[in-house]
Amino acid sequence: MKDRSLLMIPGPIEFEPAVLAALGAPTTSHLAPNFIEAFGQALERMRQVFLSDDGQPFILAGSGTLAMDTAGANLVEPGDRVLVVNTGFFPDRFGELLERYGAQVTHLRAAVGGRPSLDEAERALQAGGYKIMTATHVDTSTGVITDVAGLAALARRYDALFVVDGVCSVAGEELRMSEWGIDVALTASQKAIGVPPGLALLVASPRAMEVFAQRKTPVGSYYADWTNWLPVMRAYEARKPSYFGTPAVNLVFALNVSLGQILAEGMDRRIARHRSLSQACKQGMQALGMGQVPLEPAFAAHTMTAPRFPQGIQGPEFLKRVSAAGVVLAGGLHPAIKSEYFRIGHMGAASRGDILATVAAIETALSECGYAFKPGAGVEAAQRSFLESK
Ligand code: PMP
Repeated sequence: MKDRSLLMIPGPIEFEPAVLAALGAPTTSHLAPNFIEAFGQALERMRQVFLSDDGQPFILAGSGTLAMDTAGANLVEPGDRVLVVNTGFFPDRFGELLERYGAQVTHLRAAVGGRPSLDEAERALQAGGYKIMTATHVDTSTGVITDVAGLAALARRYDALFVVDGVCSVAGEELRMSEWGIDVALTASQKAIGVPPGLALLVASPRAMEVFAQRKTPVGSYYADWTNWLPVMRAYEARKPSYFGTPAVNLVFALNVSLGQILAEGMDRRIARHRSLSQACKQGMQALGMGQVPLEPAFAAHTMTAPRFPQGIQGPEFLKRVSAAGVVLAGGLHPAIKSEYFRIGHMGAASRGDILATVAAIETALSECGYAFKPGAGVEAAQRSFLESK
């Protein structure tokens, strides 16, 4: 029996063998020609994956929170007003982070599992004076997806920079930086980008770079300061060596491999695949009698699913049994409902077989926890969803 379980949490995820091979290859100098080429290519490919014609990509050693920190440190000056479109745990974090840089933060909140409407966002923006609006594309604590295209249009109308936390969305959800007018989109390597944890990834629009260039106060973080990193990113893209801090050499090689795979699949096909995996997973959960945290189907992300436990099922016991059945899932994260739901990630390299195996393991665990249902009902619904989709 293979002693290996399937990692189906909302990041880190299962990674492609070629990506892992790049990570395990002998480390080169960060000034070696083959590294300069890989770094330069990865920067160019980031623009294509973020669907940005003219954005400035940044690849830094760090996690997604560093990508958020970088956006905050470089774009906020003390006293700036920021509107946080809040759908859960990670927007709370973003607000807290921005306050560290002196922002005056207003949260536009919704019920847990809900999202502020575009009308509400417009009314908030009309109140005026916001330099920046942020939204979390997919809040990983609730599985709620925000209408980033709609919010971007509002940001343009009210002349605010629009910063999107795309940690649980980039390369899995539809996110069109240039077409929609997004100023910053950021993510981390361990999610749908498909590289083990360790890279903070961000693309900034020319408008965002101009706001940065016009700062009156110095950036409050030494490491995150674009003044230090912009020459490095420009140099590598021009295939020249440069140094500010040692890049995560192997992770950058791995990133370049993964971005190449993503572009070989094609962004539209990749988004469609994530939708199909999501629909099958959600139909499987529904057939087992489980609701979801997102209050409406239209609010539900495609990179993850957040099912609510049936009556009487205890989270820790359930998760232990799913794990014994070979699949690793995540518990609840949103403080208000933590014990009421669990989370399934289905992004990046996830396949139809992974979804079917996950639903089957969930059935095993539910059965062992004493929940009554028709065995196979979830797997059947998921399979039907796949067979009916193109
Ligand atoms: N934003 C979102 C939406 C996330 O899902 C996460 C990580 N789960 C983060 C930010 C923070 O990323 P990291 O844990 O890599 O710092």
